[in-house]
Amino acid sequence: MRTLDTEILVIGSGAGGASTAARLAAAGRQVVVVEEGPWVDPDAIEPFSLEEMVAKYRHHGSSAALGNPPIAYAEGRCVGGSTEVNSGLWHRLPPALAEEWRRTYQIEAFTPDVLDGYAELIEADQGVSYVPAAPPTSSALLERGATKLGWRSVEFPRVFRYDAAGRGTKQTMARTLVPKAVAAGSTIMPGCRVLKLVGRGSRITGARCRATRPDGTPEDLLVRAEHVFVCGGAIQSPALLQRSGIRRGIGGGLKLHPTIKIAARFPHPVDHDDVPMHRITEFAPNLTIGGSASRRAHVALALADSGALDPEALADWEHVSVYYAAIRSEGAGRVVAVPGVASPLVTYRLTEADVSRLARGLVHLGEALLAAGATELVPSVIGAPTVRRVEELAPWWDAVTRTQSNLMTVHLTSSIRMGETRDRTGTDSFGRVWGYENLRVNDASLLPDAPGVNPQAAIMTIAARNAEQFLAST
Ligand SMILES: Cc1cc2nc3c(=O)[nH]c(=O)nc-3n(C[C@H](O)[C@H](O)[C@H](O)COP(=O)(O)OP(=O)(O)OC[C@H]3O[C@@H](n4cnc5c(N)ncnc54)[C@H](O)[C@@H]3O)c2cc1C
Repeated sequence: MRTLDTEILVIGSGAGGASTAARLAAAGRQVVVVEEGPWVDPDAIEPFSLEEMVAKYRHHGSSAALGNPPIAYAEGRCVGGSTEVNSGLWHRLPPALAEEWRRTYQIEAFTPDVLDGYAELIEADQGVSYVPAAPPTSSALLERGATKLGWRSVEFPRVFRYDAAGRGTKQTMARTLVPKAVAAGSTIMPGCRVLKLVGRGSRITGARCRATRPDGTPEDLLVRAEHVFVCGGAIQSPALLQRSGIRRGIGGGLKLHPTIKIAARFPHPVDHDDVPMHRITEFAPNLTIGGSASRRAHVALALADSGALDPEALADWEHVSVYYAAIRSEGAGRVVAVPGVASPLVTYRLTEADVSRLARGLVHLGEALLAAGATELVPSVIGAPTVRRVEELAPWWDAVTRTQSNLMTVHLTSSIRMGETRDRTGTDSFGRVWGYENLRVNDASLLPDAPGVNPQAAIMTIAARNAEQFLAST
């Protein structure tokens, strides 16, 4: 087996991994980043296309947390991780939530000034901005619906930079922090999956990997390292630790934002190139309303989720846009590595209150879309009536059931919580795995709960904070 030696091994190159690698490399540390997915030139593939799903998503975009109901979820799997496929919406961790987490899990150095300090640096570095011109129609419609109803709505900034002509480019990790880490001397190895961590007692000595040679053939590789950061995301990180025999506080308590959708038809065409940057925040943080990618395939999927895809409904798909209501859920899930199987078993249990909250979200979303001028609403609930007038929304309260609702999520967190309360966490306040001297987690897994907002900002802020603490302590 080929071996490679490094001071620091970072596993995964998404929001958490790229943030970790760039900071450690800039401080002069020797870093190797291994990434299971391929390197895909960020300009090579059209965003939100089917080709993107095949090239950049794990399982081509279709994974599911089993339960009643099952919840479909998606993860990126390429250099840059999920930041390559996401919408780039940026929302700092709400201070009240950070304070609640600090108290509940006794997280050290987790005050608003610490977190805001890192968030400001990241925002200046990455380029977080508002659309320089008028927002796209799909976004303006949400704002219009909210205004008509007297509800709060907000335009969210995104991790985008704009040129003089107003053309925006999403600042994904493959465009920003991965090249920065490489420029500072790091090595990035795409197509290299860590199968298992190896070690002795309380020290990890390295990782057994399945790598890809330049000619495309597989090879076994052992990366030996003095320090290891696991940054595979909230599903893959706990699975890797469990495969390596590390189970205490690992994989339970998975959180996500369950999401229910409506395909809304308007009397006029709606743009489909971008994703709405407006959100209705009237019911936040427990319920938020926003818009999804709405290419032809997304519209087809959303219509199919109603249980009856009429081919004619797709004929004027340019008039249809997909919107969603997402909740903070009381329920929780588990990630369990299954011996001999590459992918872990993921389960999630919604509570009755979650189901009620989803019904409320669907009805409020319907109200907003009708107020915005939609002429027909098809919800992602099998057998629920198509709605054309506000008086017709009432049956949706009962239609949202465990057996009939098609739910999904793209926000997964909390499978390895951080904090000093050892009985409720998997790591200390800075991501060091309990019982190990040189093993750290630094990704979405660490967030003690689903944040109720898009998580990338919180993940990158916490990852930067933890990397600095590592630099100061080693
Ligand atoms: C479609 C979509 C839209 C989204 N929209 C937004 C948005 O607008 N705003 C927002 O804030 N958030 C959004 N998110 C969520 C956000 O992108 C993620 O929460 C965030 O990227 C998670 O960061 P992470 O570092 O934990 O994992 P990821 O960014 O997913 O990175 C993990 C990486 O680790 C690699 N990996 C895993 N296991 C191994 C292994 N064993 N060996 C080697 N490599 C491994 C994976 O291949 C992956 O590339 C969206 C997500 C998706 C999927």
